[in-house]
Amino acid sequence: MANREELIPIIERHGITDYCFIDPSKDIVTGQWVRFHCMFGCPNYGTYATCPTALPSLEVCRELFSEYSLGILIHTTMPYVDKESSRAATLALTKQQLALEREIFLNDYRKVLLLGGSTCKLCAKCTADGKREDCVNKAQSRPSLEAMGIDVYQTARNFGFPIRVLKDYSEDMNRYSILLIE
Ligand code: SF4
Repeated sequence: MANREELIPIIERHGITDYCFIDPSKDIVTGQWVRFHCMFGCPNYGTYATCPTALPSLEVCRELFSEYSLGILIHTTMPYVDKESSRAATLALTKQQLALEREIFLNDYRKVLLLGGSTCKLCAKCTADGKREDCVNKAQSRPSLEAMGIDVYQTARNFGFPIRVLKDYSEDMNRYSILLIE
């Protein structure tokens, strides 16, 4: 059973302050519509090794969430300047959260798994062509919340976090990640 009091100093040591604890088995809202937005609307559909079609069905994702009693929902606000600085900021965020995942794992939480706040940015361009086995960094690449069929809007709103459809690039992005812990 995960111990929140033990986790708080670890989380904050990694510079993460805007977060809350959730129960993944109950609090993660999923929807088939999320998968359909990947299929019809995302230009990257079927190309990344961390996105559909490289991921299991929504039913399997739901089953995975049901195996965890604790999660950390992390919120980050990110301004959009240009494509390259957005990629660099997302990469830095991913590395920070992977370091947290590792430290939690080393504290004997063997099931910990990070779901990232964005499509994988570990490579400048994903060359996996939608095949998990062709990922060049299998140890560190992680799926995003939306790739796992999570309704990020509803999940975040249920905990009072801000999120809405952005009208243009002048508006700050609200990014969400989840660490599944057990
Ligand atoms: S690590 Fe590289 S190859 Fe693997 S999913 Fe990420 S971008 Fe694609």
